[in-house]
Amino acid sequence: MADTALPAVRRERLRIAIQKKGRLGEPARALLSACGLAWRETPDRLFCHADNAPVDLLLVRDDDIPRLLLEGHCEWGIVGRNVLGEQLARVREQGAEPAVREERALGFGGCRLSIAVPTALPWNGVADLAGQRIATSHPALLRAWLAERGIAAGVVTLSGSVEIAPGLGQADAVCDLVSSGATLAANRLRPVEDLLASEAVLAVGAAPLDPAREATASTLRRRIDCVLRARDRRLLVFRARRDALPGLMSLLTDVEAPTVCPTEDGDSVSLQALWHGQMPWQRLEALERAGARGLMVLPVERMLA
Ligand code: ATP
Ligand code: ZN
Repeated sequence: MADTALPAVRRERLRIAIQKKGRLGEPARALLSACGLAWRETPDRLFCHADNAPVDLLLVRDDDIPRLLLEGHCEWGIVGRNVLGEQLARVREQGAEPAVREERALGFGGCRLSIAVPTALPWNGVADLAGQRIATSHPALLRAWLAERGIAAGVVTLSGSVEIAPGLGQADAVCDLVSSGATLAANRLRPVEDLLASEAVLAVGAAPLDPAREATASTLRRRIDCVLRARDRRLLVFRARRDALPGLMSLLTDVEAPTVCPTEDGDSVSLQALWHGQMPWQRLEALERAGARGLMVLPVERMLA
């Protein structure tokens, strides 16, 4: 029987919003390109098609990404947990449950949303914030945090340059993003409480996807896994005489998946192991002293489970 009764499956394209410029723009592009997507950007276009997959990219301001997801203009977004959390907290303040969630952390754009107070003032704990004015561009997250602790404080909403507010007399404290703390220190502020540990996340709409988009999403999800698993991993490869093996293995108790393979001559073996982070020189030198030869430390690009 002909399958004309089946609905035609249109090649619906998965729409992914990323930050056009700014701190998350380049790492988000690098992640998608490591997942095999290729696309061309033109400076004035906010929309571009991937050349080799049913995916469209929306290049926007980070603050717009949660709304684009909430309104169904895109299915995925790469955005800071702080920006996502703020917009979702605003929806909750309206008494609604947002139909967008964080699916996974992506391991870049790390920072903290922290309360900071003037360095010159003493700090005895969160109760010191009662009756103070706190400047922030994350008012909903701050209100929720204050409410949980039963602290009545004023929230001064600013869209940027939050850290100069105490110096200008607009506020007594700030609630702002911190990474190194240098900007706070330059404004004579010090972080005292963390509201949120943030990083870039994959945010997704809660509505189920149509089959075509779901197929694209599940391929990409798996590729993201493979790329993130490989991130920061190194492959250690070397040869050694068989009789050096016990000594070498005692130096490799903390590596992942050490594998020993015999070589043609039978007297020696080749070894490989995974390492997380930078390989310390001392470790390589100790392996060399224990008989490792032809040592190589190689970057790992992708790791399939
Ligand atoms: P846009 O023009 O897209 O609105 P923006 O100026 O609001 O950009 P960026 O400064 O590019 O935003 O920061 C984007 C995100 O990078 C932040 O929301 C946060 O998740 C993350 N981030 C990481 N470190 C920091 C930091 N030290 N200060 C601010 N944001 C940081
Ligand atoms: Zn922004």
